[in-house]
Amino acid sequence: MRGEEPVVVEALKMRALPEGSCDRLFEFLRLYRDALQMVVNRIWSTSDKLSKKKLHKLFYNNLVSMGFRAHHAKEIYAYAESLVESARSNGGRKPVLRRLSARIDKYDYRLDLDSTTLTLKLHSDYKVRLRLITSKERVEKFRGWENYELVVKYEDGKFWVSIYFKKSVKSLKPKTIMAVDLNFDNATLAIFTLDSRLLRLKRFKTPHRKILTHRIWVERIQKRYSRSWRFIKSVKKAIDKHGKRIRNISWDYAHKVGDLVAELALKHHSVIVLEDLEKLRENGKKGKRFNKRLGLWFYRRIQFCIEYEARERNLEVTKVNPRKTSSKCPKCGKKLTENNHRVLKCRKCNFIGDRDVIATINLYKKFISKYSRCGVPGVALNAPKPNENPSGVQGKRDEAMIKNNLYELIC
Ligand SMILES: [Zn+2]
Repeated sequence: MRGEEPVVVEALKMRALPEGSCDRLFEFLRLYRDALQMVVNRIWSTSDKLSKKKLHKLFYNNLVSMGFRAHHAKEIYAYAESLVESARSNGGRKPVLRRLSARIDKYDYRLDLDSTTLTLKLHSDYKVRLRLITSKERVEKFRGWENYELVVKYEDGKFWVSIYFKKSVKSLKPKTIMAVDLNFDNATLAIFTLDSRLLRLKRFKTPHRKILTHRIWVERIQKRYSRSWRFIKSVKKAIDKHGKRIRNISWDYAHKVGDLVAELALKHHSVIVLEDLEKLRENGKKGKRFNKRLGLWFYRRIQFCIEYEARERNLEVTKVNPRKTSSKCPKCGKKLTENNHRVLKCRKCNFIGDRDVIATINLYKKFISKYSRCGVPGVALNAPKPNENPSGVQGKRDEAMIKNNLYELIC
């Protein structure tokens, strides 16, 4: 998690238009495929595991004499070896290559991100310049990344290039912990210090009710035309319209929350703690928070956006089992009962609290106990001084709750 620097790899796939004739590029791709097949055949026929050195000795001169450059040759036998290995481990047959596709090392191309052009060095000292069809925004993202390899291929009558970029991610040492709880009405986030004080509490209303309204419309239409809705154009169109609204509403919201959460986490140097939705399914009961009619897809979408935006900012995201996080008393651990709509009460210790906030405290506690057990550095569990007041709290609605209960709860 921390310590070594993890590397992020991403591919940028684009259409590519050769400037001038495509003949040499075709020639290269055919030659590459045939050479790759030849090497695959040779490796397949020996049962020994071939070392890099052995591969080089067996194939290098041969490939260079066919017109390939030094790094073309290395890519070809390394690629062939990986193809054979994966076919063997899957118990499959010898790979037969039909597609025109070549892996090219960084020494054999020149990429210019400003003009979005790519120059490939081909066999027998030929070169080809390609114009890459993509948007400025997509390219902009990879500024400052290192590109190290690409795949050029011919597919469906077009040339495509996938360029592989990497960058090492310097994980920021977290100074705070942000727990994010998602439920039908709200997305709630709470930021805690490492010594268990609450710094911030924020809620975003979810558009679940809006989504549900569109869902109900779709269901009504489908019910009324239960046999025929697929075939009547106007009915299908009406259903599609509601589907499109649902998609727009949910993605808009997910992007917005993802961005806000990650921005706040960046500001407070937080590690982000989310609920592990897969565990939720294992736990069996989805509970009241998750409306059956809507399922989990919307929560997944929000989490996807949070994780994506966090990664863009080099922030760490971790997931904990959400079991009982919205039903257990954060103070004594007993099961809470519903006091009224959003308020829960503990019969044992008389604790009363808002359901969303309770969930974030429980997520925070789970994170702390998980990582104090694993002994992850960076999350020190300093015991807070008694009578210390929570500071920096915002939001009037939750203030009373924080002042009265929260502090003693989470300590
Ligand atoms: Zn209690």
